[in-house]
Amino acid sequence: MINTIILLFGMIHVCFSLKKNPVLKFGGSSLANIKRLKNVGDIISDISINDQLPVVVLSAIGSTTNKLLEASYSALNDDDISKSLSIVNGVKSNHYLIFNFIKDNSKNNLKSNKIKFERDTLIAKRDIDEYFTNLINILKGIHLLNELSPVVIDNVSSFGERLSVRLFAYLINNMCLEDSEIEAEFYDSWDLGLKADGCHNDSKFIEDDYVKDTVKMNIESIIKRNKIPIVTGFICKNLDGKITTLGRGGSDLTATFIGECCGSREIQVWKDVNGLMTADPKVVKDAKPLSKLSYEQASELAYFGAKILHPISMLPAKKTEIPVIIKNSYNVTNEGTFISNELNNDIDKEYIVAMTSKKDITLIDIVSTRMLEQTGFLSKVFKIFEEDNISIDVIATSEISISLTLDNKNIISKNAIDKLNKISCVRVKKDYSILSFIVNIDKSNEVLSKILYILSKNGINAEMISQGASKVNISIVIHSKDVDKALNLVHNNFF
Ligand code: ASP
Ligand code: MG
Repeated sequence: MINTIILLFGMIHVCFSLKKNPVLKFGGSSLANIKRLKNVGDIISDISINDQLPVVVLSAIGSTTNKLLEASYSALNDDDISKSLSIVNGVKSNHYLIFNFIKDNSKNNLKSNKIKFERDTLIAKRDIDEYFTNLINILKGIHLLNELSPVVIDNVSSFGERLSVRLFAYLINNMCLEDSEIEAEFYDSWDLGLKADGCHNDSKFIEDDYVKDTVKMNIESIIKRNKIPIVTGFICKNLDGKITTLGRGGSDLTATFIGECCGSREIQVWKDVNGLMTADPKVVKDAKPLSKLSYEQASELAYFGAKILHPISMLPAKKTEIPVIIKNSYNVTNEGTFISNELNNDIDKEYIVAMTSKKDITLIDIVSTRMLEQTGFLSKVFKIFEEDNISIDVIATSEISISLTLDNKNIISKNAIDKLNKISCVRVKKDYSILSFIVNIDKSNEVLSKILYILSKNGINAEMISQGASKVNISIVIHSKDVDKALNLVHNNFF
């Protein structure tokens, strides 16, 4: 009897620990205007009331991040600051338009919770006022000092997410959840215990157990109070207390990392398209939606240019095997793309699962001057890249030569080229692109030969070919002018 009870408790415990609250992430285009914001508010209210309280991660509203960066560069480069200020004033009026709409249309205004509504309104207005005052002061500082460091860029871009969570919590509490017991609370990521490391504009979360446990504890205690945490994506603070960002599109990473910390049952990434597709529909008209992908396939796609996911955002999900579902906030009933451990590798399906391209690539050919059997050549070359702090994308080697690519974030210095020239002949070639194909592993050799045949028949030269060890990905470097044509030719042939 006692054993049965213990077993039962065990099972109940497992059921609960398997069903941890989902993380929902919404990108800028899902938050582009009041109609979209209200739509997102309804999606969250629906899940909160009918299912479990989610943890919500938000990007900046619409194209706010682009505008903030534009304003910063204009403050730095233009003769007077008026253009920079007018860009920020555009962002400001957009945020006030939303604020005023909520204030004027909330039903709470008329009801018994009028006092709470007035308090919320006061807090939202106070924060928006303060943020824009600070932002304008920083832009004036950039202009006066004629200086824009990565630290300042991160600080300026952080305002987008800080504003969006505040405005959104105001909206959902007063336009979507006004009749419910549930309430949303906004948080800057650092207030939940998240910490970042590494360089500005491209930092990473610190992943130690202390950080993860703190984040989990904080979020659990918020949810226990029946509140929905609305958290800033993309931004964090480093150990010096300075604001950093995780690289463009970094809210995806915030969402999956929080999912990892909390052991969430799933991570929903809400975008403005029906999930991932076989190719970028802007380039290939006949691109088709993908119903499922593995973490690895999705990572390769993201890394090699599919703009839809942050390049390293799949890692936390993969580590903890939490499924990631890419959904369309403009088309809620669409199933989207389900990303898990399972490969999309249907035998009777296409040989290629998906394709993408990464532009603005530098191709470097390095040929040893000593010819065959020179030991240590590869390691000498890699050491030079390491010393120059350069990360290499795709690589193909033989005993005496190396071809490799660098993306536009990794620019090789003259000093490194000089060092390479001492041991080899170096050629640096610009205007290249990487075509990447996520392929059915069992067919990868056939696929490669077929692609090369298609390219050569159409006069497109493959400068370099590389297949990752996992064989999930085949990368081919071609001249940038041929990229769109090549993608269409290959897609038409395989799909
Ligand atoms: N707002 C940031 C960006 O536009 C982060 C994100 O959207 O995920 O890059
Ligand atoms: Mg964005």
